[in-house]
Amino acid sequence: MKYLSCGCCGCGFRTWKGYVDQDQDKGFGICKGCQGWIESLLNAELDQLANKIENALNIENASRFADMPAETRRLFATKAINDGLVRYTIKGRP
Ligand SMILES: [Zn+2]
Repeated sequence: MKYLSCGCCGCGFRTWKGYVDQDQDKGFGICKGCQGWIESLLNAELDQLANKIENALNIENASRFADMPAETRRLFATKAINDGLVRYTIKGRP
């Protein structure tokens, strides 16, 4: 374990078992709280995309997709981006 500064909120934190090094400058990382915050934002984006995908499916497939667990829907949405089935544009903050 080592001590790092969070590149997101600036707090000092100690890494934990299983901590994955982030792509940050030396001595920096992302603290647990910010990792959770970032993941919740990502999940909200993927949930929105999954809803859009669901709306684009025929009724039978939309019904099957709606019954899938959230994590499966998010994986499907991620794969749809990676496979180029949907185009995802990141815009600046409003
Ligand atoms: Zn932080």
